[in-house]
Amino acid sequence: MMETLNYDFWKYFKEISNIPRRSGEESKIAKYIIDFAIKRNFKYYTDKYNNVVIWKEASEGLQDKEILGLQCHTDMICEKLINTEHDFSKDPLKLIVEGDFIKAVNTTLGADDGIGVAYILAILDSKEIKHPKLECIFTTEEETTMNGAMGLDASILQSKRIISFDNDNEEEMWISSATAKEWTSTIKEPQIDLNPEEFTTFCLNLDKFKGGHSGIDIGDVTRGNPIKIIAELLNCFSDVYISDFEGGSKVNIIPRDCKIIFSINNNELSKVSVLENEISRIKNMYQTADISLNKINNVQKSYSKQLSENLLKFINSFQNGAIVKDEYGNVILSGNFGAVKKENEVMNLLYSIRYNSSKLGLKLENKIESDMEHYNIEAKNHGNILGYEQEENSQLIECCEKIYYKCFNKKIKKVKVQACLECGYFSNKIPNLQYVAIAPNIYNAHSPDERMSIKSANKMWNFIIEILENIN
Ligand SMILES: [Zn+2]
Repeated sequence: MMETLNYDFWKYFKEISNIPRRSGEESKIAKYIIDFAIKRNFKYYTDKYNNVVIWKEASEGLQDKEILGLQCHTDMICEKLINTEHDFSKDPLKLIVEGDFIKAVNTTLGADDGIGVAYILAILDSKEIKHPKLECIFTTEEETTMNGAMGLDASILQSKRIISFDNDNEEEMWISSATAKEWTSTIKEPQIDLNPEEFTTFCLNLDKFKGGHSGIDIGDVTRGNPIKIIAELLNCFSDVYISDFEGGSKVNIIPRDCKIIFSINNNELSKVSVLENEISRIKNMYQTADISLNKINNVQKSYSKQLSENLLKFINSFQNGAIVKDEYGNVILSGNFGAVKKENEVMNLLYSIRYNSSKLGLKLENKIESDMEHYNIEAKNHGNILGYEQEENSQLIECCEKIYYKCFNKKIKKVKVQACLECGYFSNKIPNLQYVAIAPNIYNAHSPDERMSIKSANKMWNFIIEILENIN
Protein backbone atom coordinates (compact mmCIF):
# COMPACT_ATOMS: atom_id res chain seq x y z
CA MET A 1 0.00 0.00 0.00
CA MET A 2 1.25 3.44 -0.84
CA GLU A 3 1.99 5.43 2.32
CA THR A 4 0.09 8.66 2.46
CA LEU A 5 0.24 12.05 4.09
CA ASN A 6 -3.04 11.42 5.90
CA TYR A 7 -1.99 11.68 9.53
CA ASP A 8 -2.62 15.02 11.22
CA PHE A 9 1.04 15.84 11.73
CA TRP A 10 1.46 16.20 7.94
CA LYS A 11 -0.84 19.20 7.99
CA TYR A 12 1.54 20.90 10.44
CA PHE A 13 4.61 19.76 8.56
CA LYS A 14 3.25 21.48 5.46
CA GLU A 15 2.24 24.60 7.36
CA ILE A 16 5.59 25.14 9.03
CA SER A 17 7.32 24.60 5.68
CA ASN A 18 5.75 27.90 4.67
CA ILE A 19 7.42 29.68 7.59
CA PRO A 20 11.04 30.81 7.28
CA ARG A 21 13.02 29.47 10.22
CA ARG A 22 16.70 29.87 9.69
CA SER A 23 18.76 29.54 12.88
CA GLY A 24 18.71 32.87 14.68
CA GLU A 25 15.58 33.96 12.78
CA GLU A 26 12.89 32.01 14.63
CA SER A 27 10.54 34.87 15.55
CA LYS A 28 7.97 33.94 12.87
CA ILE A 29 7.82 30.27 13.78
CA ALA A 30 7.70 31.21 17.48
CA LYS A 31 4.74 33.49 16.78
CA TYR A 32 3.00 30.72 14.85
CA ILE A 33 3.42 28.31 17.78
CA ILE A 34 2.28 30.92 20.31
CA ASP A 35 -0.82 31.71 18.21
CA PHE A 36 -1.49 27.98 18.08
CA ALA A 37 -1.35 27.83 21.90
CA ILE A 38 -3.53 30.91 22.40
CA LYS A 39 -6.18 29.62 20.02
CA ARG A 40 -6.47 26.42 22.02
CA ASN A 41 -6.23 28.04 25.42
CA PHE A 42 -3.00 26.31 26.39
CA LYS A 43 -0.74 27.80 28.99
CA TYR A 44 2.51 28.83 27.32
CA TYR A 45 5.83 30.54 27.95
CA THR A 46 8.23 32.32 25.65
CA ASP A 47 11.47 34.23 26.08
CA LYS A 48 13.94 36.47 24.28
CA TYR A 49 15.52 33.46 22.54
CA ASN A 50 12.17 32.68 20.84
CA ASN A 51 11.92 29.45 22.78
CA VAL A 52 8.31 28.42 23.37
CA VAL A 53 7.01 26.00 26.00
CA ILE A 54 3.39 24.82 25.97
CA TRP A 55 1.65 22.80 28.67
CA LYS A 56 -1.31 20.50 28.04
CA GLU A 57 -3.23 18.83 30.84
CA ALA A 58 -3.38 15.04 31.11
CA SER A 59 -6.12 13.07 29.41
CA GLU A 60 -8.98 11.74 31.52
CA GLY A 61 -7.68 8.88 33.66
CA LEU A 62 -3.99 9.69 33.20
CA GLN A 63 -3.81 12.60 35.66
CA ASP A 64 -1.81 10.55 38.15
CA LYS A 65 1.07 9.96 35.79
CA GLU A 66 4.25 11.96 35.92
CA ILE A 67 4.50 14.91 33.52
CA LEU A 68 6.30 14.12 30.23
CA GLY A 69 8.42 16.56 28.23
CA LEU A 70 8.38 16.52 24.41
CA GLN A 71 11.09 18.49 22.71
CA CYS A 72 12.20 19.69 19.28
CA HIS A 73 14.07 22.61 17.73
CA THR A 74 12.29 25.03 15.44
CA ASP A 75 15.26 26.25 13.40
CA MET A 76 16.59 24.54 10.31
CA ILE A 77 19.76 24.49 8.22
CA CYS A 78 19.18 26.56 5.09
CA GLU A 79 21.10 25.11 2.15
CA LYS A 80 20.16 25.29 -1.51
CA LEU A 81 21.59 24.09 -4.79
CA ILE A 82 23.71 26.73 -6.49
CA ASN A 83 21.78 28.80 -9.01
CA THR A 84 18.54 28.23 -7.09
CA GLU A 85 16.38 31.28 -6.55
CA HIS A 86 15.26 30.81 -2.99
CA ASP A 87 15.24 33.38 -0.22
CA PHE A 88 15.25 31.52 3.08
CA SER A 89 14.23 34.68 4.92
CA LYS A 90 10.81 34.76 3.19
CA ASP A 91 10.15 32.02 0.63
CA PRO A 92 8.13 28.93 1.56
CA LEU A 93 9.78 25.58 0.92
CA LYS A 94 8.39 23.74 -2.11
CA LEU A 95 7.51 20.28 -0.89
CA ILE A 96 7.30 17.35 -3.29
CA VAL A 97 6.73 13.64 -2.91
CA GLU A 98 8.95 11.20 -4.80
CA GLY A 99 8.03 7.57 -4.14
CA ASP A 100 8.27 7.09 -0.39
CA PHE A 101 10.13 10.34 0.15
CA ILE A 102 9.05 13.85 0.92
CA LYS A 103 11.61 16.49 -0.02
CA ALA A 104 11.91 20.15 -0.88
CA VAL A 105 12.74 21.36 -4.38
CA ASN A 106 16.44 22.36 -4.50
CA THR A 107 16.64 23.19 -0.78
CA THR A 108 16.97 21.54 2.58
CA LEU A 109 13.67 20.10 3.79
CA GLY A 110 14.04 21.04 7.42
CA ALA A 111 12.66 17.67 8.53
CA ASP A 112 15.56 18.16 10.94
CA ASP A 113 13.77 19.11 13.10
CA GLY A 114 10.48 20.15 11.46
CA ILE A 115 9.16 16.63 11.92
CA GLY A 116 9.51 17.14 15.67
CA VAL A 117 7.62 20.43 15.51
CA ALA A 118 4.87 18.78 13.43
CA TYR A 119 4.56 15.74 15.70
CA ILE A 120 4.28 17.87 18.83
CA LEU A 121 1.74 20.29 17.35
CA ALA A 122 -0.41 17.37 16.17
CA ILE A 123 -0.24 15.76 19.63
CA LEU A 124 -1.21 19.05 21.27
CA ASP A 125 -4.07 19.50 18.82
CA SER A 126 -5.46 15.98 19.15
CA LYS A 127 -8.47 15.22 21.29
CA GLU A 128 -8.17 11.46 20.71
CA ILE A 129 -4.60 10.72 21.76
CA LYS A 130 -4.36 9.78 25.43
CA HIS A 131 -1.35 11.17 27.29
CA PRO A 132 -0.05 12.28 30.70
CA LYS A 133 0.38 16.00 31.33
CA LEU A 134 2.67 17.32 28.61
CA GLU A 135 5.35 19.96 28.61
CA CYS A 136 6.21 20.74 25.00
CA ILE A 137 9.53 22.49 24.52
CA PHE A 138 10.39 24.23 21.24
CA THR A 139 13.97 25.48 21.25
CA THR A 140 15.94 27.65 18.83
CA GLU A 141 19.37 27.98 17.20
CA GLU A 142 20.12 24.30 17.70
CA GLU A 143 21.99 24.14 14.42
CA THR A 144 24.35 26.98 15.29
CA THR A 145 24.87 28.18 18.83
CA MET A 146 22.38 26.15 20.93
CA ASN A 147 21.48 29.50 22.44
CA GLY A 148 17.84 28.42 22.82
CA ALA A 149 18.51 25.36 24.95
CA MET A 150 21.34 27.13 26.73
CA GLY A 151 19.31 30.23 27.56
CA LEU A 152 16.00 28.58 28.46
CA ASP A 153 15.08 29.32 32.07
CA ALA A 154 15.02 25.92 33.76
CA SER A 155 12.88 27.13 36.64
CA ILE A 156 9.80 27.09 34.39
CA LEU A 157 10.33 23.43 33.42
CA GLN A 158 8.48 20.72 35.33
CA SER A 159 9.47 17.57 33.47
CA LYS A 160 12.25 15.26 34.58
CA ARG A 161 11.83 13.02 31.56
CA ILE A 162 11.92 14.31 28.02
CA ILE A 163 11.44 12.68 24.64
CA SER A 164 13.18 14.62 21.86
CA PHE A 165 12.49 14.20 18.16
CA ASP A 166 15.91 15.33 17.00
CA ASN A 167 17.40 12.16 15.53
CA ASP A 168 17.39 10.73 12.00
CA ASN A 169 17.06 6.99 12.29
CA GLU A 170 13.93 5.03 13.21
CA GLU A 171 15.96 2.05 14.41
CA GLU A 172 17.90 4.07 16.95
CA MET A 173 17.10 5.67 20.28
CA TRP A 174 19.75 8.19 21.22
CA ILE A 175 20.43 8.04 24.93
CA SER A 176 23.57 10.11 25.39
CA SER A 177 25.37 12.97 23.69
CA ALA A 178 29.02 13.85 23.75
CA THR A 179 30.89 16.40 25.75
CA ALA A 180 33.26 18.20 23.42
CA LYS A 181 36.44 19.83 24.58
CA GLU A 182 38.18 22.04 22.05
CA TRP A 183 41.59 23.69 22.09
CA THR A 184 43.23 26.37 19.99
CA SER A 185 46.97 26.62 20.41
CA THR A 186 49.31 29.19 19.00
CA ILE A 187 52.94 28.75 18.18
CA LYS A 188 54.94 31.84 17.54
CA GLU A 189 58.64 32.07 16.85
CA PRO A 190 60.68 33.86 14.18
CA GLN A 191 61.86 31.60 11.39
CA ILE A 192 65.55 31.05 10.75
CA ASP A 193 67.69 30.78 7.62
CA LEU A 194 69.10 27.39 6.74
CA ASN A 195 72.37 26.99 4.92
CA PRO A 196 71.43 26.09 1.31
CA GLU A 197 74.59 23.99 1.04
CA GLU A 198 73.51 21.73 3.86
CA PHE A 199 69.73 21.45 3.48
CA THR A 200 67.09 20.35 1.00
CA THR A 201 63.49 21.53 1.08
CA PHE A 202 60.45 19.46 0.12
CA CYS A 203 56.74 19.96 -0.21
CA LEU A 204 54.56 17.06 0.90
CA ASN A 205 50.95 17.44 -0.08
CA LEU A 206 48.05 15.23 0.99
CA ASP A 207 44.72 15.93 -0.65
CA LYS A 208 41.24 14.49 -1.37
CA PHE A 209 40.76 12.60 1.87
CA LYS A 210 37.10 12.02 2.69
CA GLY A 211 36.81 14.43 5.63
CA GLY A 212 33.51 14.54 7.52
CA HIS A 213 32.07 15.76 10.80
CA SER A 214 33.94 14.82 13.95
CA GLY A 215 30.68 14.28 15.85
CA ILE A 216 29.22 11.95 13.23
CA ASP A 217 31.89 10.30 11.10
CA ILE A 218 34.75 9.84 13.52
CA GLY A 219 34.25 6.07 13.78
CA ASP A 220 34.91 5.56 10.06
CA VAL A 221 38.57 4.55 9.69
CA THR A 222 38.52 4.93 5.90
CA ARG A 223 38.51 8.72 6.29
CA GLY A 224 42.00 9.13 7.75
CA ASN A 225 43.42 12.38 9.02
CA PRO A 226 46.04 13.93 6.71
CA ILE A 227 47.48 16.13 9.48
CA LYS A 228 48.17 13.09 11.62
CA ILE A 229 49.44 11.16 8.60
CA ILE A 230 51.94 13.88 7.72
CA ALA A 231 53.33 13.94 11.24
CA GLU A 232 53.65 10.17 11.12
CA LEU A 233 55.32 10.16 7.68
CA LEU A 234 57.98 12.62 8.80
CA ASN A 235 59.08 10.19 11.51
CA CYS A 236 61.32 8.80 8.73
CA PHE A 237 63.78 11.59 9.44
CA SER A 238 65.61 12.33 12.66
CA ASP A 239 65.51 16.11 12.18
CA VAL A 240 62.87 18.09 10.32
CA TYR A 241 62.69 21.87 9.89
CA ILE A 242 59.18 23.10 9.18
CA SER A 243 58.66 26.17 6.97
CA ASP A 244 55.00 25.91 6.29
CA PHE A 245 52.25 23.67 7.58
CA GLU A 246 48.62 23.99 6.62
CA GLY A 247 45.71 21.57 6.81
CA GLY A 248 42.03 21.18 7.64
CA SER A 249 39.49 23.92 8.23
CA LYS A 250 37.64 23.70 11.54
CA VAL A 251 38.02 22.09 14.92
CA ASN A 252 34.96 19.85 14.44
CA ILE A 253 35.65 18.89 10.83
CA ILE A 254 37.81 15.91 9.92
CA PRO A 255 40.53 17.39 7.67
CA ARG A 256 40.52 16.55 3.98
CA ASP A 257 43.91 17.97 3.10
CA CYS A 258 47.27 18.96 4.55
CA LYS A 259 50.43 20.41 3.09
CA ILE A 260 53.82 20.79 4.69
CA ILE A 261 56.99 22.46 3.45
CA PHE A 262 59.98 21.13 5.33
CA SER A 263 63.72 20.83 5.08
CA ILE A 264 66.08 18.06 6.03
CA ASN A 265 69.82 17.94 6.34
CA ASN A 266 71.43 16.53 3.20
CA ASN A 267 72.96 13.69 5.21
CA GLU A 268 69.39 12.34 5.60
CA LEU A 269 68.58 12.41 1.87
CA SER A 270 68.94 8.65 1.62
CA LYS A 271 65.84 8.35 3.82
CA VAL A 272 63.65 10.01 1.21
CA SER A 273 63.12 6.61 -0.40
CA VAL A 274 61.79 5.35 2.95
CA LEU A 275 59.31 8.23 2.92
CA GLU A 276 58.32 7.38 -0.65
CA ASN A 277 57.61 3.78 0.36
CA GLU A 278 55.50 5.00 3.27
CA ILE A 279 53.61 7.27 0.91
CA SER A 280 52.72 4.29 -1.33
CA ARG A 281 51.50 2.41 1.70
CA ILE A 282 49.26 5.33 2.74
CA LYS A 283 47.94 5.70 -0.83
CA ASN A 284 46.87 2.06 -0.72
CA MET A 285 45.03 2.62 2.54
CA TYR A 286 43.13 5.71 1.41
CA GLN A 287 42.10 5.09 -2.17
CA THR A 288 40.60 8.51 -2.89
CA ALA A 289 43.65 10.40 -1.65
CA ASP A 290 46.19 12.26 -3.74
CA ILE A 291 49.67 12.41 -2.23
CA SER A 292 52.68 14.12 -3.74
CA LEU A 293 56.23 14.80 -2.62
CA ASN A 294 58.23 17.43 -4.50
CA LYS A 295 61.63 18.93 -4.03
CA ILE A 296 61.66 22.70 -3.82
CA ASN A 297 64.58 24.40 -5.55
CA ASN A 298 65.25 27.11 -3.01
CA VAL A 299 65.87 26.19 0.58
CA GLN A 300 63.20 27.90 2.66
CA LYS A 301 63.34 29.78 5.95
CA SER A 302 61.99 27.59 8.71
CA TYR A 303 61.19 27.17 12.37
CA SER A 304 63.90 25.92 14.68
CA LYS A 305 64.61 22.24 14.97
CA GLN A 306 63.25 22.23 18.52
CA LEU A 307 59.94 23.86 17.67
CA SER A 308 59.49 21.69 14.57
CA GLU A 309 60.19 18.60 16.61
CA ASN A 310 57.83 19.59 19.42
CA LEU A 311 55.06 20.30 16.98
CA LEU A 312 55.38 16.98 15.16
CA LYS A 313 55.74 15.04 18.39
CA PHE A 314 52.69 16.72 19.84
CA ILE A 315 50.62 15.83 16.79
CA ASN A 316 51.97 12.27 16.92
CA SER A 317 51.04 12.00 20.59
CA PHE A 318 47.47 13.16 19.93
CA GLN A 319 45.07 10.21 19.83
CA ASN A 320 42.92 10.67 16.76
CA GLY A 321 39.73 9.00 15.53
CA ALA A 322 37.68 6.50 17.52
CA ILE A 323 39.59 5.67 20.71
CA VAL A 324 37.07 3.73 22.79
CA LYS A 325 33.82 1.99 21.80
CA ASP A 326 31.18 0.59 24.14
CA GLU A 327 29.73 -2.92 24.04
CA TYR A 328 27.24 -1.91 21.31
CA GLY A 329 29.96 -0.46 19.07
CA ASN A 330 29.12 3.18 19.82
CA VAL A 331 32.20 5.41 19.81
CA ILE A 332 32.33 6.91 23.30
CA LEU A 333 35.76 8.55 23.16
CA SER A 334 37.32 10.19 20.13
CA GLY A 335 39.82 12.81 19.08
CA ASN A 336 40.01 15.03 16.03
CA PHE A 337 43.08 17.01 15.09
CA GLY A 338 41.04 19.48 13.06
CA ALA A 339 43.37 22.07 11.62
CA VAL A 340 46.83 23.57 11.39
CA LYS A 341 46.86 27.08 10.05
CA LYS A 342 49.74 29.46 9.50
CA GLU A 343 49.21 33.19 9.44
CA ASN A 344 52.45 35.07 8.89
CA GLU A 345 54.74 33.49 11.46
CA VAL A 346 52.00 32.36 13.82
CA MET A 347 50.84 28.79 13.65
CA ASN A 348 47.41 27.90 15.03
CA LEU A 349 46.48 24.36 16.00
CA LEU A 350 42.83 23.37 16.41
CA TYR A 351 42.03 20.04 18.03
CA SER A 352 39.25 18.50 20.05
CA ILE A 353 38.02 15.43 21.84
CA ARG A 354 34.51 14.09 22.39
CA TYR A 355 33.32 11.72 25.06
CA ASN A 356 30.17 10.08 26.39
CA SER A 357 31.89 8.93 29.56
CA SER A 358 33.32 11.64 31.75
CA LYS A 359 35.71 9.18 33.38
CA LEU A 360 37.36 8.37 30.04
CA GLY A 361 37.13 11.95 28.84
CA LEU A 362 38.81 13.57 31.82
CA LYS A 363 41.65 11.08 31.69
CA LEU A 364 42.33 11.91 28.04
CA GLU A 365 41.97 15.62 28.72
CA ASN A 366 44.67 15.37 31.38
CA LYS A 367 46.97 13.49 29.04
CA ILE A 368 46.56 16.11 26.33
CA GLU A 369 47.18 18.94 28.76
CA SER A 370 50.34 17.27 30.02
CA ASP A 371 51.55 16.61 26.45
CA MET A 372 50.96 20.26 25.71
CA GLU A 373 53.14 21.21 28.61
CA HIS A 374 55.77 18.68 27.64
CA TYR A 375 55.98 19.91 24.06
CA ASN A 376 55.65 23.54 24.97
CA ILE A 377 52.34 23.98 23.17
CA GLU A 378 50.28 26.64 24.83
CA ALA A 379 46.48 26.72 24.60
CA LYS A 380 45.15 30.10 23.58
CA ASN A 381 41.56 29.22 24.31
CA HIS A 382 39.26 26.38 25.23
CA GLY A 383 35.78 25.49 24.16
CA ASN A 384 33.52 23.23 26.10
CA ILE A 385 30.22 21.80 24.93
CA LEU A 386 28.25 19.94 27.55
CA GLY A 387 27.33 16.34 27.02
CA TYR A 388 24.74 14.07 28.58
CA GLU A 389 25.00 10.69 30.28
CA GLN A 390 22.30 8.65 31.99
CA GLU A 391 21.81 5.18 33.45
CA GLU A 392 21.23 2.79 30.58
CA ASN A 393 18.25 1.26 32.32
CA SER A 394 16.49 4.50 33.15
CA GLN A 395 12.74 4.14 33.39
CA LEU A 396 12.16 6.21 30.25
CA ILE A 397 14.62 4.14 28.19
CA GLU A 398 13.11 0.85 29.37
CA CYS A 399 9.60 2.05 28.69
CA CYS A 400 10.42 3.19 25.12
CA GLU A 401 12.33 -0.04 24.46
CA LYS A 402 9.40 -2.15 25.57
CA ILE A 403 6.85 -0.24 23.52
CA TYR A 404 9.07 -0.27 20.42
CA TYR A 405 9.38 -4.04 20.73
CA LYS A 406 5.65 -4.38 21.14
CA CYS A 407 4.98 -2.21 18.07
CA PHE A 408 7.59 -3.62 15.68
CA ASN A 409 8.64 -6.94 17.19
CA LYS A 410 12.21 -5.77 17.04
CA LYS A 411 14.68 -4.21 19.47
CA ILE A 412 15.48 -0.53 19.17
CA LYS A 413 19.21 0.21 19.20
CA LYS A 414 20.37 2.31 22.13
CA VAL A 415 22.92 4.72 20.76
CA LYS A 416 25.31 7.09 22.47
CA VAL A 417 26.07 9.72 19.89
CA GLN A 418 29.31 11.63 19.51
CA ALA A 419 27.32 14.60 18.31
CA CYS A 420 26.59 17.41 20.76
CA LEU A 421 22.88 17.65 21.41
CA GLU A 422 20.63 19.97 23.36
CA CYS A 423 20.23 17.39 26.11
CA GLY A 424 23.65 18.46 27.37
CA TYR A 425 22.09 21.79 28.32
CA PHE A 426 18.86 20.30 29.66
CA SER A 427 20.70 17.87 31.89
CA ASN A 428 22.77 20.74 33.20
CA LYS A 429 19.54 22.39 34.39
CA ILE A 430 17.46 19.37 35.38
CA PRO A 431 19.07 17.01 37.90
CA ASN A 432 18.66 13.30 37.09
CA LEU A 433 17.08 14.07 33.76
CA GLN A 434 15.93 11.12 31.67
CA TYR A 435 16.16 11.99 27.99
CA VAL A 436 15.87 10.03 24.75
CA ALA A 437 15.71 11.12 21.12
CA ILE A 438 13.70 9.22 18.51
CA ALA A 439 12.68 10.14 14.96
CA PRO A 440 11.88 8.74 11.51
CA ASN A 441 14.46 8.11 8.81
CA ILE A 442 15.81 11.36 7.43
CA TYR A 443 18.55 11.21 4.83
CA ASN A 444 21.18 13.82 3.92
CA ALA A 445 20.01 16.31 6.54
CA HIS A 446 21.79 19.68 6.25
CA SER A 447 22.05 19.34 2.45
CA PRO A 448 19.65 20.19 -0.41
CA ASP A 449 19.26 16.42 -0.85
CA GLU A 450 17.57 16.12 2.53
CA ARG A 451 14.60 13.79 2.35
CA MET A 452 12.37 11.95 4.78
CA SER A 453 10.69 8.57 4.44
CA ILE A 454 6.91 9.00 4.59
CA LYS A 455 6.45 5.42 5.67
CA SER A 456 8.95 5.88 8.48
CA ALA A 457 7.37 9.18 9.62
CA ASN A 458 3.97 7.45 9.80
CA LYS A 459 5.45 4.45 11.60
CA MET A 460 7.17 6.61 14.23
CA TRP A 461 3.97 8.63 14.70
CA ASN A 462 2.17 5.46 15.74
CA PHE A 463 5.08 4.52 18.01
CA ILE A 464 4.92 7.92 19.71
CA ILE A 465 1.17 7.61 20.28
CA GLU A 466 1.77 4.20 21.88
CA ILE A 467 4.37 5.76 24.17
CA LEU A 468 2.04 8.59 25.18
CA GLU A 469 -0.79 6.20 25.94
CA ASN A 470 1.26 3.57 27.76
CA ILE A 471 4.08 5.39 29.51
CA ASN A 472 4.29 4.68 33.25
ZN1 LIG B 1 18.47 18.75 14.46
